[in-house]
Amino acid sequence: MSQDAAATVCSLCKRRDAFFFRRYSGEKLCRKCFVESVEAKVRATIAKYNMLNFDDRIAVAVSGGKDSLSLLHILAKIERRHPKASLVAVTVDEGIKGYRDEALAIAAENCKALGIEHRVVAFKELYGYTLDEVVAKAREKSGLALTACAYCGVLRRRALNVAAREVDADKIATAHTLDDEAQTILLNIFRGDLVRLAKEKPVTDEAHPRFVQKVRPFCEIPEKESALYAYVKTIRFQDVPCPYASEALRNEMRFMLNHMEERHPGTKFAVFKAIERLRPALEEVAKKTDFKECTACGEPASDKLCKVCELLRKIA
Ligand code: SF4
Ligand code: ZN
Repeated sequence: MSQDAAATVCSLCKRRDAFFFRRYSGEKLCRKCFVESVEAKVRATIAKYNMLNFDDRIAVAVSGGKDSLSLLHILAKIERRHPKASLVAVTVDEGIKGYRDEALAIAAENCKALGIEHRVVAFKELYGYTLDEVVAKAREKSGLALTACAYCGVLRRRALNVAAREVDADKIATAHTLDDEAQTILLNIFRGDLVRLAKEKPVTDEAHPRFVQKVRPFCEIPEKESALYAYVKTIRFQDVPCPYASEALRNEMRFMLNHMEERHPGTKFAVFKAIERLRPALEEVAKKTDFKECTACGEPASDKLCKVCELLRKIA
C-alpha cells in the first residue's frame, strides 16, 4: 500500500479505493484496475514488437521467482484466447545446493495449478556437472577466473535453448523486466560494449537455425509492478536470492537507477525508450556474428568451439 494512494479513489474505474500510486504516470489504481493494466501492457508489448504468433508453441523460462511466475500466469491467461497457441514452462536446474530445489518445487506447483506442461533441464544431465561443481573446479584450476554468474549465464542460455528445441517451441519467453532492460543498457554503455548493446533487445535475431527466438514480454513492466502483480494474485514464488548473486556492476546499476527513479519518476522508461529509438542506427553498428557449428558439440558457435565447450574444457 502506497501512502500517496491512501483513501483516494482509483483513477481508472473512479469507484474502488486506490491501493497503488504509479508515480511515473500519476495514476492511482485499485487492485482490479492495477492487475488489468499490467495484463493490458503485456498484450500491447507483445503486439508492438510482434513477439508471438497466434499458433506459436511458447516455452516460458520459469525460475520460480516473482517475475517469471507473474509472466507465466499472464501468458496462460492470454493463451486461453488463442486456442492454437500452446505453452510449456521450462525450468533450468543449475544445481545450486540449498537454493534451486525450493524454486523447482514452486515452479512445478504453479504449472500444475495452471495445467501447463513443465520441463526441467539440469546442468548435471547436460554437462556432467552441477553449477556448484563447475564453480569448485574453476576455483581449483584457475582461482575462479570468472564469477559464478558468468559461467552460469553461458550454461543456462544453452540449456534453455536445448530444452526449447526438445519441446518443439517456436519461441522462448523470458521475464526480463523494464529494470533488467535499463540495467543491461547502462551496463553495456559503462563497459563500452556497443555490440552487446545492439544485441540485447526485446526480440532476438535468430542468427542460426538451432537458436530458438527469444522474446521479452515484460520489457515494459517495472520490476516493482511484476512483484506487486504476484502479491495481488497471491502467486507463490521463491523470494530467496541465489547464494552466488554477485554481479557487482549490475547491482550498482540497479542502485543508481532506483535512486534516479525515486527522484525522477520515469527514468527507467526514458533509458529503455532512448535505446529503442536508436535501434535502427545500432543495427548498423553491430557486427552480425557469423555462426557456424561447434566442432565438438555441433551447437551454434562464433568460433571453432562454442562458449560452452570452451568453458567445460577449461575446467576438465
Ligand atoms: Fe546463476 Fe548468478 Fe543467477 Fe545464481 S545469480 S542463478 S549463479 S546467474
Ligand atoms: Zn560446443
